[in-house]
Amino acid sequence: MRILVQKFGGTSLSSPQARTHVIEHIRRELARQYRLVVVVSAMGRRGEPYATDTLLDWSEQNGNGLPLREKDLLLCCGEIISAATLCSLLQHEGITATVLTGAQAGFITDNQFGNARILDVKPDRVRAELENVQVVIVTGFQGQTESGDFTTLGRGGSDTSATALGAALRAEMIDIYTDVNGILTADPRIVEDARPLSHMSYTEICNMAHQGAKVIHPRAVEIAMQSLIPVRVRSTFTDSEGTLVTQPDGFHDVQMGFVDRFVSGVAYVSNITQISVECDRTEGLQLKVFKTMAENSISVDFINVTPTGVLYTVFDSDSEKAISALQGLNLKPRSLSGCAKVSVIGGGINGVPGIMAKIVEALSEHDIPILQSADSNTTIWVLVKKEDMVQALRALHSKFELHR
Ligand code: ADP
Ligand code: ASP
Ligand code: MG
Repeated sequence: MRILVQKFGGTSLSSPQARTHVIEHIRRELARQYRLVVVVSAMGRRGEPYATDTLLDWSEQNGNGLPLREKDLLLCCGEIISAATLCSLLQHEGITATVLTGAQAGFITDNQFGNARILDVKPDRVRAELENVQVVIVTGFQGQTESGDFTTLGRGGSDTSATALGAALRAEMIDIYTDVNGILTADPRIVEDARPLSHMSYTEICNMAHQGAKVIHPRAVEIAMQSLIPVRVRSTFTDSEGTLVTQPDGFHDVQMGFVDRFVSGVAYVSNITQISVECDRTEGLQLKVFKTMAENSISVDFINVTPTGVLYTVFDSDSEKAISALQGLNLKPRSLSGCAKVSVIGGGINGVPGIMAKIVEALSEHDIPILQSADSNTTIWVLVKKEDMVQALRALHSKFELHR
């Protein structure tokens, strides 16, 4: 049985017109003799009736006291409504289909409600249903604990549902349908001349996704990479082939369109606070700073430790908690909220002279101060004020000629 997994995101399902495109993609692949597993997200974006953000707002506006376990139950409704709607449309078109929830599709997770991790996928029921119908629709973003509680996989988790199910079913390919023409050199909402990349390696896209390119969830790419199943990120609204994500093998790379590029793209994470604390190593103070952050479940990034102090970032949403925890240690932290982390990503930047010089040149040409920087063998990060973020991304995109 040739199995293809198709995942449709929120905007791909948001209107009757969008759903017509979805049905066309399903029909085309059925004609190619695939058995289809279609993973769906909740329909639409914030403000639309059954979108995940709308359901979250609803729970906040109505008491905001919902325990995490029950909140997951509420969130699961978005994907269930979406799946039932698509099933009804397919039946109407004469295509046989059935719906399975995450639990029925075999997703077993831990009990970290709101951000559960997949422990196992047992796809026996999906396989059995594929013998009876042309399309098995699976609600993305959800699973169930060993004891039967509904869980959700964290924001953007439908991508992970699709690749995890694709891996468990040994699918031929996983198609991620979204509202852009594949993976681009930057978020097209910010950089207008961002260019679609026809081919990328799992590692390249994984790095971009980890740095904030939300077109695909990083966990989803990691799972696909482990099973080496090709992933295609493509638009629901055009016929473009999008971006094919595979593993370069050094032999077929030229045919496959792998290009030796230094920099593959730029990405960003906003709403970050920079914290600096003057403290030396006496009385284990520096250690106490990081232990206190961990005890308060505050995730820290961009860490810089010097003999006289520590410098790091947290999300704006955690900054108050972080500051009062530090004051509790009798320290006098300084903080700068409203920052953004801008990244230049590329497998080829390791050891190449001049990359940092280009970054500094691009930003100083626009008078953008760099508040902090760091690098790894695939990424260079700079911290800038949030109001400089858009300009910084555009300047870097243009400096590295990513539009070409
Ligand atoms: P879906 O609902 O289909 O999962 P998402 O909103 O999660 O869609 O992801 C698609 C969005 O990701 C695009 O609309 C785009 O604005 C954003 N995005 C950010 N970085 C990139 C990038 N490098 N390439 C393509 N899209 C990107
Ligand atoms: N509907 C969920 C979210 O908005 C999952 C997803 O779209 O991938 O996060
Ligand atoms: Mg998404």
